[in-house]
This record gives sequence, C-alpha cells and structure tokens, in this order.
Amino acid sequence: MFDALSEKLQATLSDVRQRGTLTEDDVNAAMREIRLALLEADVNFKVVKSFTASVKERCLGADVVGALNPGQQVVKIVDEELTALMGGSSAGLAFAPRPPTVILMAGLQGSGKTTATAKLARFLKENNDSSVAVAACDVYRPAAVDQLVKVGGQVGATVYEKGTDENPVDIARWALDQAKQDGKDVLIVDTAGRLHVDESLMEELKEIRKAVKPTSILLVVDAMTGQDAVNVAEQFGEAVNFDGVIMSKLDGDARGGAALSVKAVTGKPILFASTGEKLDQFERFHPDRMAQRILGMGDVLSLIEKAESQVEEDEARELEKKLRKGEFTFEDFLSQLKMMRKMGPLSSLLGMIPGFQGSQLKNMKVDDRELDRVQAIILSMTPEERRRPELIKGSRRLRIAKGSGTSVQQVNQLVKQFGQMQKVMKQLGRGKMPDLQALMRQ
Ligand code: GDP
Repeated sequence: MFDALSEKLQATLSDVRQRGTLTEDDVNAAMREIRLALLEADVNFKVVKSFTASVKERCLGADVVGALNPGQQVVKIVDEELTALMGGSSAGLAFAPRPPTVILMAGLQGSGKTTATAKLARFLKENNDSSVAVAACDVYRPAAVDQLVKVGGQVGATVYEKGTDENPVDIARWALDQAKQDGKDVLIVDTAGRLHVDESLMEELKEIRKAVKPTSILLVVDAMTGQDAVNVAEQFGEAVNFDGVIMSKLDGDARGGAALSVKAVTGKPILFASTGEKLDQFERFHPDRMAQRILGMGDVLSLIEKAESQVEEDEARELEKKLRKGEFTFEDFLSQLKMMRKMGPLSSLLGMIPGFQGSQLKNMKVDDRELDRVQAIILSMTPEERRRPELIKGSRRLRIAKGSGTSVQQVNQLVKQFGQMQKVMKQLGRGKMPDLQALMRQ
C-alpha cells in the first residue's frame, strides 16, 4: 500500500531530519521533493498545491527554522498535515435512532461494491453486534445477485433478493419492509453500478433513496484507479449527496492518490478501507494511522487491535505466565501460530510495524510458506513430544521429518531454536538479561 510514495517521502524527510539547522532554502528544496512525490502518487494537483503551501508555511514559522531539532518538527508537521488531508479524526458510521439503519451502497461496476456490502455486514456483526440484512438490488450486472447471496451468506447476513426480473426500487422497498418485520438492526442495500457515471444510474439511485430513506449513502471507489476514482466521487457528489467513502482495493494501490485526495476534493470522509479479496480484509479508516504508515512510523495501534480481536484476555495472561516460567511448549506455540495466521499474511502484519516498509519488506522476502513448514513439523510431533521436546531425538526426528515432508536438519533446527527461545524467556521471566553469547555458543 502506498509503497512508492512512502519511500520518497521517507527519503526526503530523513534528509531533512539529519540537518542540524534548516534554512529557508532547505525547506523549499524539501517541499519540491514532497510536491513531486505527491504528484507521482497521482494526488490531485490542486490538493498537492495547497498541501505543500500549508506545510511550507508552518515549516517557515518560528517553531521550525532555528529550532533545536528542526528536522523532527518538519516530520511532525508533514504527519499532521497528511492526517488532516485525509480527514483528521476518523469518521464513524451514522446509526438511525430507531432501527433499521439503512445504508445505501453506490459505486461503479467493478469498484468492489458487492464485496464491500458483505464486508460491511460482517464488520457490523462483529464489532457492533448488529443483526444485518443485505438487499440485492444490482439486477443488471450478470451474477451480482448470486454473488451477494454467496458472500452475504458467508458472513451470516440475511440476504433479501428477488432475482433479476424485478425493478430495483421495488426490491429495495420490499427489503426494507422485510428488515422491519425481521427486526434487523441494519439493512445494507447493494445498488446497481454502471461502467460510467450516467443519468440513468443517478436516477435509479435517487429513486431508491426516496423509497428507503437511507441513514447513509456510502460510495465505493476503487483506489487502484487513482484520480478517476476521485472524479467519480466528485460526479456522484454532485448528483446524489453521499455521506462517506469506502476505499476499496487499497492493497493493490502502490500510489495512494485517491485515498489522499478524495476528502479534500469531495469534502466526504473515507470511512472504511477494503484491503483484499477476503471478507475480513476490511477495516475502519483512520487518517492519523494511515499518515503514520505512509511516513514509516508504523501502525502499531491497528496491529494491537488485530491481535486483541484474536486473543482472549485470559488466554493472553495464561500464556504470559507460561512464557515467564519457561513452560511454553510446542503445543502453545502451535496455537499461537494458528492465531497469528488468522490475522492475515505476515507481510501485511510486518507492514504495520515501524521500520518495516515498502522495499524493506520486499528485500526481506517474507514467506508465509516458512510458517507452513514450521506448522507441519509441529503437527507431525506426538502430543507428548510437543510437551517435552527433549524427547525428540534419533528416529523420532526422522519420523517427524518424513511426516512433515521436511528434512532432519530442518526438524533439528526448529527444536534447537525453540529450546533457545525457552531459555531466553525463562531468564527474562526471572528479571535477568539473558546471556546471549552463551546461547550463541550452543
Ligand atoms: P461490484 O461490481 O462493484 O459489485 O464489484 P465486486 O464486489 O464484484 O468486485 C469486483 C472485483 O474486485 C472482484 O473480483 C473482487 O473480488 C475484487 N475486490 C473487491 N474489493 C477488493 C479489495 O479490497 N482488494 C482486492 N484486491 N480486490 C477486491
């Protein structure tokens, strides 16, 4: 996500950061670099202009030039301005005072609207404990109804559909009645897209809006289409006033232009980001965290939230106790591995840690298959061996290697590393710094 922009901004800022003092020329040079980086990232040129103007104005202010650590101040200013550019504080979804809350999904064909409908349903079920129904009103795109039935079902939403022969406005009206009867908290209406913004699309949206009086209209735009996405949002905004944006396909967007410009151009905040084809790859959009990710400061908060959603508190406490006492077994390790893998591919997790960005990740060749191998080795151990790894010797190693499709060396290596980790944990648990040199000699 935003790799190219991230790299350029970080390079410029690290240059600035290294300087003891900053002159006006230094600031001007840095602004030129930032302007270029943003333009290359396909950020709307007017947005770039006003962004660099306000950053520059603040950088030339009394706080920076001549300050003790001017470079840090500039980074702080860029961080704050990027955050403001994407909307400042994170915007929330509005709920109706009396259920059902009705959310109308709008967007062009292929933008990811149907996928986002199911993802949002899942999100609201998981995070708000809402009972959610979705209505299939995209009757024009071949298979859109079937697709919603499938993905809606996968996330446990009730799907209201009437095939493709009925009028979408009637289906929407009927779905709303159903949602009321069924006591649903939320109804998400998937509307039809078109290849381009056109009159008939807007008319239909307006009619559906009149029929169901939505609490919010959310526009799904494809981040990978850059400025086109922003233009589409602008056109939608002029025709039907929407409330917020779901930015889809951010995972495939190396540039970031749409995400950075859409709030400034349309005045509407990005509420959610869709970051993959899987139904759980969907999160609230936090401008401050996104800015920090772009600037390579990591997004530790999102990482913690992800971890928290997977681990029960008691379980975490129990685990910590075991770690401290050096009683952490392969059995525990296996359940940790499984939990971690539920959080997503390793590369996306590492991307949230400060310092692991863009090219670094590429060079590191993060390979989830390594984890497959480790998991296969542990799965080939008997429960007794998992609890007492010291048993794993001689023929047991051969058996485990065969069972997991690995080599005896690989099994040896894992057992040895695990033993070392246990030692370190035990020493840390007793409040001692581990003797790393002694460990390395082993
Ligand atoms: P619709 O025509 O707007 O309803 O679009 P769909 O929901 O069918 O999505 C179009 C394509 O984009 C499908 O192949 C989806 O799997 C894919 N897609 C949707 N959201 C994302 C996303 O966040 N990331 C990626 N990589 N693909 C996505």
